[in-house]
Amino acid sequence: MRRLLAAFALCISLLCPGALAVRAQQASSQRDKQSQTVYITRSGKKYHLDGCRYLTANKTAISLKDAQKQGYTPCKVCHPPE
Ligand SMILES: [Zn+2]
Repeated sequence: MRRLLAAFALCISLLCPGALAVRAQQASSQRDKQSQTVYITRSGKKYHLDGCRYLTANKTAISLKDAQKQGYTPCKVCHPPE
């Protein structure tokens, strides 16, 4: 019986905070996606994070949502969110 209780307590302490954290993370990453800013260049067909070496002086800030809507794909070098 004691062992059962211990196992139960272990489950609670391991699973519950983890599950809550995952849920919170999902919610916040979804919110971030709405307002995430990425950068495109005039000639490229990829969107980038600020500071990517493929960004040129004429980079344009755009929201991630709009970049995807306009057919831009994530850069393979700076790995912006998809
Ligand atoms: Zn890039």
